[in-house]
Amino acid sequence: MSNKRNPQKIVAIFGITVTAGLFIFFMFFSPGRLETAKAVQENFADSTKQGNETMKSENEWEQCLTPEEYRVLREKGTERAFTGKFYKHSDKGTYVCAGCNAELFPSGTKFDSGTGWPSFWAPTENAAVELREDKSYGMKRTEVVCAKCKGHLGHVFEDGPQPTNLRYCINSVSLGFKAEGDTTIVK
Ligand SMILES: [Zn+2]
Repeated sequence: MSNKRNPQKIVAIFGITVTAGLFIFFMFFSPGRLETAKAVQENFADSTKQGNETMKSENEWEQCLTPEEYRVLREKGTERAFTGKFYKHSDKGTYVCAGCNAELFPSGTKFDSGTGWPSFWAPTENAAVELREDKSYGMKRTEVVCAKCKGHLGHVFEDGPQPTNLRYCINSVSLGFKAEGDTTIVK
């Protein structure tokens, strides 16, 4: 090997640097759709601050949730990928919050993301979920919580399908399901 500068190598290094730079830029600074979704939902959250009749103390939550539901909903845990009961679920109906039964996601926005968790491109309406900054584990993510009981549902990412390009990645444990034309909630 010579010490002479190899132009191809320089071009390759330059290309990699630029690509990595752009990737980091879009990872951390891209405003776009997620910001819009956040703004809409923050406005809604402000307008519905009263009437949180389902708010319970952590002790009360511990009494009424299963240990796994408590770990995910109240302690922001994550179920193991590909193990959740709703991962492959494709019935028509509405997914509700496992903590307070609030309607969260219509089955029509569910899609197979291949990630191992139920994935949706939109909640039922802006009322259903609230978005929060999550800087845990050295990552910058957007947490999704139930707007009514504030239970942890999962995270939202900007790599979903049309029309929103959003992917709400939700734990099955945080969800219940109401089949179309039925009021019974299955968990
Ligand atoms: Zn809830």
